[in-house]
Amino acid sequence: MKIETKCVQGGYTPGNGEPRQIPIIQSTTFKYATSEDMGKLFDLEASGYFYSRLQNPTCDTVAAKICQLEGGSAAMLTGSGQAASFFAVFNIAGIGDHVVASSAIYGGTYNLFAVTMKRMGIDFSFVAPDCSDEELEAAFRPNTKAVFGETIANPALNVLDIERFANAAHAHGVPLIIDNTFATPVNCRPIEWGADIVTHSTTKYMDGHGAAVGGCIVDSGKFDWTKYPEKFPGLCTPDHSYHGVTYTERFGLEGAYITKATAQLMRDLGCVQSPQSAYLLNLGLESLHVRMERHCANAQKIAEFLSNHPKVGWVRYPGLPGDPEHERAKKYLPNGSCGVISFGVKGGKAAAAEFMKGLTIAAIETHVADARSCCLHPATATHRQMTDEELIAAGVPGDLVRLSVGLENADDLIADIDNALKNV
Ligand SMILES: *Cc1c(COP(=O)(O)O)cnc(C)c1O
Repeated sequence: MKIETKCVQGGYTPGNGEPRQIPIIQSTTFKYATSEDMGKLFDLEASGYFYSRLQNPTCDTVAAKICQLEGGSAAMLTGSGQAASFFAVFNIAGIGDHVVASSAIYGGTYNLFAVTMKRMGIDFSFVAPDCSDEELEAAFRPNTKAVFGETIANPALNVLDIERFANAAHAHGVPLIIDNTFATPVNCRPIEWGADIVTHSTTKYMDGHGAAVGGCIVDSGKFDWTKYPEKFPGLCTPDHSYHGVTYTERFGLEGAYITKATAQLMRDLGCVQSPQSAYLLNLGLESLHVRMERHCANAQKIAEFLSNHPKVGWVRYPGLPGDPEHERAKKYLPNGSCGVISFGVKGGKAAAAEFMKGLTIAAIETHVADARSCCLHPATATHRQMTDEELIAAGVPGDLVRLSVGLENADDLIADIDNALKNV
């Protein structure tokens, strides 16, 4: 099946007389006739449901669709994108370990890594996505367990050279984890470029309607943990908290990583997605391919308009021929990148804030990747505590506006932006 068919039909094939739409199994628990039946589930000897903190049929159906979209071997939903990023790393790294991460990542992920997971004893080295091969090489340590990056960085919009990062990770015997939130599997499937694990904030384009917070982790099943048993003891030696099961032996390379994350991390940390949210997410996925095309077409038109506007100092959008990311975007994102643009309003912080006041269609929100256009002026909102110098160092200069282009008519959006720029 092609990606469009997978978006609509993936993950669920009802039998005769069964519901056409995926059923919402809003049940915490599942019944069994005998204790022996249930015991087999606890021993991971039979598959089945017993408690929705571990697994739920609605969530599994939607995870199976995303798994097909990314071309993976196994997948799980999580309660948020943050939980997906945390589980993806924590499943293979613990106290005393180290991870190499691109510095161009979502701010929430940066805090998770640099502050919270650091407190858990995991060290992170951040490298620029366009660092030299020598710099990338120098970031690895004997205790490195993974490499992490974003296909398209939120909000910097760098396009990661996935192949280069995958080769570097594999040369050091560790997997590459890619957050594919902004590109979505419609525009890029990182596993095809060598990534081993893919994460998503499904809150963004996958849901696409600002309706449900959620996340997802997909495993390619291609990384051979058993080649490095001393590096990944959690996958290659018995788990005494789960009846001595060795995940790679029992579930093979296709199933070991996601089964461990479910049986161990979800059991203990409980960051589940609700079946109701998974249902809403699936409604979003059914039109993901149609929406992404329009998000990209609208953003392309608006980026071109902005780059010719006398009151706009600069525009960053991977689809613009002059953009520093354009060549990499042509390779990794030939059908379009995403709907997010960043640009500078001439006149700096005050001018950008004035421009935002004049918009009537795009609402001011911290959200992105929604059917409704929205925008943010970091210097007076999310980053308002920073000085002008700090803003520049953080890659969000005072004049920067982040615009997430929605599914409205592009000419309406352009007229609204044009009008707001007249105020400046
Ligand atoms: C929003 C976002 C996240 C975090 O996701 P939540 O669903 O908000 O927890 C992670 N990565 C990227 C790229 C994001 O845009």
